[in-house]
Amino acid sequence: MTQQIERVTTLGGQPQLTSPNNVVTFPERGNVKHLFDNTATPHSEYDRIWLFHAQSGLCGVLVWGAAIQVNKRDVNRLVILQHGDEVQIGESSWTYHDIFWGVVTDSTQAALSPCGYCTGPFTTGEVFVRCPLCFALYHEDCWVGLELKRCCTRGCRLLPNKILVGGK
Ligand SMILES: [Zn+2]
Ligand SMILES: [Zn+2]
Repeated sequence: MTQQIERVTTLGGQPQLTSPNNVVTFPERGNVKHLFDNTATPHSEYDRIWLFHAQSGLCGVLVWGAAIQVNKRDVNRLVILQHGDEVQIGESSWTYHDIFWGVVTDSTQAALSPCGYCTGPFTTGEVFVRCPLCFALYHEDCWVGLELKRCCTRGCRLLPNKILVGGK
């Protein structure tokens, strides 16, 4: 499966559900929130849908009496989401993102920890990819090399799918 990942400019961002005209951000680890806090988008089922972010870093959706599908399969109470999952809530379609990438700039370069795979530094203009569970950073080609393996961080359980960076 090929997935495109989202570009971010901040490293502290939380996982997101995005639709063509809306973005909902998951809460910080250990927290649960309603799908919509601000009720800017009223919907009869939205108050029966919660987003959770476990301490492990996994995110998912809790549902009580509302119709949700993930990758076209009905959700019964709880589902754990993986990057690229398609989430259908009523009439609206969303995509789950938790693997973010960015381009190293002069100002961010010094602050980036070494690559989790090759332990080399990042240089300006390079692409980095962030593990959604442990936030380890990887060079683009090092990340691609993790396919069907495991994130290199001790104890991290992320198993990356085949990922294309930046739509390439
Ligand atoms: Zn590397
Ligand atoms: Zn990791």
